Amino acid sequence: MTKFSNFANSLQSSDIAALLALTEKPEIISFAGGLPAPELFPIEEMKQVDAAIYAEEGRQAVQYGTTEGYVPLREEIARRMKDKFFVDCQPEHIVVTTGSQQALFILAQILVDKGQSILMESPSYMGAIMAFDPAGPRYTEVPTDDKGIIPEALEKILAADDAVRLIYVIPEFQNPTGVTWPLERRKAFMDIVSKYDVVVLEDNPYGEIRYGLEKMPSLKSLDTQGKVVFLGSFSKIFMPGLRLGWIVAAPDIVDKFVKFKQAVDLGTSTFGQRQAAYFCKLFDMEAHIARITALYAKRRDLMCDAMKTYFPADVTFTYPQGGLFTWVTLPDDVDAKKLMPKCIAQNVAYVPGDIFYPNGGHGNHFRLNYSNMPEDRIVEGIKRLGAVLAEELKK
Ligand code: PMP
Repeated sequence: MTKFSNFANSLQSSDIAALLALTEKPEIISFAGGLPAPELFPIEEMKQVDAAIYAEEGRQAVQYGTTEGYVPLREEIARRMKDKFFVDCQPEHIVVTTGSQQALFILAQILVDKGQSILMESPSYMGAIMAFDPAGPRYTEVPTDDKGIIPEALEKILAADDAVRLIYVIPEFQNPTGVTWPLERRKAFMDIVSKYDVVVLEDNPYGEIRYGLEKMPSLKSLDTQGKVVFLGSFSKIFMPGLRLGWIVAAPDIVDKFVKFKQAVDLGTSTFGQRQAAYFCKLFDMEAHIARITALYAKRRDLMCDAMKTYFPADVTFTYPQGGLFTWVTLPDDVDAKKLMPKCIAQNVAYVPGDIFYPNGGHGNHFRLNYSNMPEDRIVEGIKRLGAVLAEELKK
């Protein structure tokens, strides 16, 4: 038998992983993943992009690169940070990462020691919990409402716990709830954190997929002390398989981050970085994002309308103004995980809500994704879910 490290031994495959594996079957209508619509991946354009990269850069395009990342891509990201998120930054404040998932892992490694605290919204992105776990933190959930983190609750927790090192938040179109923090909430949050010696991770992979909601200043743009690290991603606006994300951070954080990233992968794919940079140069990224946004807005409306029609009246759900997810709340005594086999039996799947809470509990929720399934399957899937819920709620 192989002897594993203590951390490796702590890794367990969950029942939910087994259920989610079933969702790979083609007959399943899956609202479980967070996958973009593949029909919008710009494959024809990418053939031209790849040819242009080889024509212009030849072998250099597949040579090792710097750990910080390909400079033209970092220049493009700096422009986008200003335009989309109101952040003034230079390429030297930016590190390209192998997905924002890698950024989450490295940031916890360089900022948190075992037993120190990470605060997160309750609920929050379960992939972040996975990325933080190897650092051995304690998690404290900060209560949220339909406008994000509740400032008074945050203040209370920060005042009582001097081991807080990180606050992890997703202020726009949150995964899993779809909630977006209004400007007032962002300002109140920054006023509070400015009084404490903590780092804020502002994870924003969905902010460019907005269904009409005005652009809003990011936390990073309101940060005068260099304590916010912004995490961005090309996964949802371009193609997740390229594994391209980025951070924008203060110089001391960038320095340690780069040293740690060297140990992890030396650098993100040099060819992949060029694919994103050349696509932005040769094609219209804004038009591409507009196409994605239009399709997802339509799918959100279809899903929410279908839920209104087919779900029992005491089941509620969020109406997200952007992003990929809606969050469903069942009556308190209904357990979404227990219901899942019944849904799978009807060939429809969601992610039960409890895995989005680092300390567990809250079984009466589930997350639905509306970006990946074609329109007819969205309506059919919600109809089937509605039938299972109606049957369960009758009991
Ligand atoms: N953060 C959030 C909130 C996410 O939802 C995701 C992907 N689902 C990620 C980070 C990771 O994205 P990626 O590594 O593909 O950039």
